[in-house]
Amino acid sequence: MIFSWLRERRRRKLLAQPFPPEWLAFLERNLAHYRYLSATEQAALRDRTRVFVAEKNWEGCNGLIVTDEMKVTIAAHAALMTLGLAGEPFGGLLSVLIYPAGYRVPEERWQSGFSIYGQSSRLGESWYRGPVILSWDEIQDDAHHPGHGSNLVWHEFAHQIDMLDRSTNGTPPLETPEARRQWHEVMTAEFEQLKRDALAGRETLLDTYGAESEAEFFAVTTECFFDAPVELREIHPRLYELLAGYYRQDPAARIEHASDSPRDVN
Ligand SMILES: [Zn+2]
Repeated sequence: MIFSWLRERRRRKLLAQPFPPEWLAFLERNLAHYRYLSATEQAALRDRTRVFVAEKNWEGCNGLIVTDEMKVTIAAHAALMTLGLAGEPFGGLLSVLIYPAGYRVPEERWQSGFSIYGQSSRLGESWYRGPVILSWDEIQDDAHHPGHGSNLVWHEFAHQIDMLDRSTNGTPPLETPEARRQWHEVMTAEFEQLKRDALAGRETLLDTYGAESEAEFFAVTTECFFDAPVELREIHPRLYELLAGYYRQDPAARIEHASDSPRDVN
């Protein structure tokens, strides 16, 4: 109780300060969807970004010095996911680790009854009750080429949302039996379709890495939902509707609304 009171006081103080102008430039440069948000949504995203930056422990790996741009870019992506969600889905996350680029970790595999030690290449990881690990090169690449449906930060943070019910199974906590039934029905059908497409070598909007498991499927569909929402709604309308219902936001409609509105010409 006392901790949450102290935290609230700290947050109020933080949010009473003006938003740093250079941070705004990071948002505009690295989060393509920022410009489509309403003024109210932008203000909420800025507040959540500041709280996230201030309250997480940031750690650079392999000699990386963590900059404000890295923190703001990652925090803003995470904040966009939570705009419509209740509570604080990333409240339990303590640390974000950042590598300069893809990294290698030792890995033990079993083959024909023998244990083989090797190395596995990673771009990111998400641990239950542990950190989110990301590589900055990949984040920058996603930020500079939005609209392709892939985004490392949304991928790893979707895993964190999935883990909120203590199981990494591609189903986040859902409120009602009806919501769980609907989730199961739509996600299973779409997951099976992606597996068939991947097997047949067909071109897909969704990254076929999502065919690995239900957990990866949820992470991959979340990436696409925020990064290529118009295309996702066009090609996978039921999946889009399900995710829009879950995240309680409609990014495709935001983009369309923005292109309908007249703009100032200078
Ligand atoms: Zn994953």
